[in-house]
Amino acid sequence: MSAGRRRTGLGDDDDTLKFETSDEVYVIPTFDAMGLREELLRGIYAYGFERPSAIQQRALKSIIQGRDVIAQAQSGTGKTATFSIAMLQAVDMQLRETQALVLSPTRELATQIQKVVLALGDYMSVQCHSCIGGTNVGEDIRKLDYGQHIVSGTPGRVFDMIKRRNLRTRSIKVLVIDEADEMLDKGFKEQIYDVYRYLPPGTQVVLVSATLPKDVLTMTSKFMTDPIRILVKRDELTLEGIKQFFVAVEREEWKFDTLCDLYDTLTITQAVIFCNTKRKVDWLTEKMREANFTVSAMHGDMPQKERDAIMKEFRSGASRVLISTDVWARGLDVQQVSLVINYDLPNNRELYIHRIGRSGRYGRKGVAINFVKSDDIRILRDIEQYYSTQIDEMPMNVADLI
Ligand code: ADP
Repeated sequence: MSAGRRRTGLGDDDDTLKFETSDEVYVIPTFDAMGLREELLRGIYAYGFERPSAIQQRALKSIIQGRDVIAQAQSGTGKTATFSIAMLQAVDMQLRETQALVLSPTRELATQIQKVVLALGDYMSVQCHSCIGGTNVGEDIRKLDYGQHIVSGTPGRVFDMIKRRNLRTRSIKVLVIDEADEMLDKGFKEQIYDVYRYLPPGTQVVLVSATLPKDVLTMTSKFMTDPIRILVKRDELTLEGIKQFFVAVEREEWKFDTLCDLYDTLTITQAVIFCNTKRKVDWLTEKMREANFTVSAMHGDMPQKERDAIMKEFRSGASRVLISTDVWARGLDVQQVSLVINYDLPNNRELYIHRIGRSGRYGRKGVAINFVKSDDIRILRDIEQYYSTQIDEMPMNVADLI
């Protein structure tokens, strides 16, 4: 896996992240000073990490100490690695039972987390299973019965496995909820509570996301005890490395020609194009292919096998342009993505941050281009104001910025 082998400037001398944070948070500038187990430390360095990122310096220790933690940091700044390292530090390797559970909203993200855990835990012989929908239930049961120290899954399948008692919860010490604001929103909330009720009393809870609106923070008192909060201010959420632009189109039909004109720019590295519906993803994919452009597409109505194949193709760089829905908006980490196109503007402000955050991973450069019809300009200005950021008209030389 090439992920994580390059380092940029988000280490201990980084002061671009300012945290609105509990007083108890202290900053630990090196992995060595964190008191991690030897084999884990070895795994971290072997994976290519040299210094902890700002969120890692601030959140790791508290999670390891067993505190409930709410950790917010910008996209691509190392949150996944933060809780993965913390879980690896927490497990007792002598006990082959599930001791850490991480829940996330999409199957691809759950699998990505599993891969990160396995890579960082390479010298620990850790067992980590991804427990997700769309896969063979029998296989899931077999893996769980074998014994898994860490499980990374989506709520539906995880709950199913808990009810069947194939995923035994009695040794679980820590529950991580990734993309917590989405997970605690209408669609998932009940499922999360279903799982939570099966966990031992006093299970440590860690919430993670780039976006944590107030209503989510308010809700946390229900299931967290005296949490440590590490929060980023709203106007610091957009990454400096990501340049944001818009292209004004008078009519919807013009978006397509605009996209075709941009195709050479899309393929400079890799690009993700977001549409708001699955139908539109299918439609646009078809239309691009008819016009002889090579594109891949992915959405939640595709069979899991096909989704897996497309992920593999895109991660390897074999395909360079991916058209997708918001199933791709959160968490997925492909370092080569440097351009995001909002063919449609997202339906809420949080999604905007997550979508553009697919580019500019770990301090790299990124460009986001928004296609806006006249009545969308208002929405774009709202996003701009909300995050105190700047979204200019796309310049002719946009390719030079990638
Ligand atoms: P987030 O969860 O905040 O979006 P990730 O944990 O996915 O971010 O990290 C983004 C990228 O940065 C990944 O490719 C990851 O391997 C890399 N990364 C994370 N932490 C470090 C580090 N300390 N040093 C170098 N690269 C890192």
